[in-house]
Amino acid sequence: MIDVSGALKQPGSSFAFDELLSFEPCEVMGEELAFEGARLAGELFSAGETVSIDSRLTVTVHAHCARCLEPVEYPMDIEVRAEFKRTPDEDGFLIRGHEIDAGEAAFEALLTELPMRFVCSEDCRGLCPVCGVNRNKSLCTCLQGAAGPSPFEALAVLLGNQTNEEV
Ligand SMILES: [Zn+2]
Ligand SMILES: [Zn+2]
Repeated sequence: MIDVSGALKQPGSSFAFDELLSFEPCEVMGEELAFEGARLAGELFSAGETVSIDSRLTVTVHAHCARCLEPVEYPMDIEVRAEFKRTPDEDGFLIRGHEIDAGEAAFEALLTELPMRFVCSEDCRGLCPVCGVNRNKSLCTCLQGAAGPSPFEALAVLLGNQTNEEV
């Protein structure tokens, strides 16, 4: 929460802020995410009746690799711009008393910037579809065979990669 009582009395004024935030773990698209070290820093501008912030959120997201299911730490650095008003409307946040909840705006921005899925590495080989072994750690022979597809082709099919057309 940021006290904006002084800013509201001085339209045109601005001040810098730097806040540590804590976000509760939450489920996003079936994935349980946790957040660590959230920090929002930037500037607050007063227009008298409304205030706006122009800031950056840095946070580490704890998720799991979509391919091999290992834990992934994903650092994010995103822009957070928001407007706060005394009366609620569609694209603004509320000034409550003489405070604003910048964390609410930051979390909303974070949700829109989250990747569709997390991978531990672009080269992650994922789990073997046959025996379930983590193919980054040990290689099984399930997908090896004279006539069969290479492990990478099989994996690409498994992951739904549309790489058929190599022109
Ligand atoms: Zn992985
Ligand atoms: Zn296998």
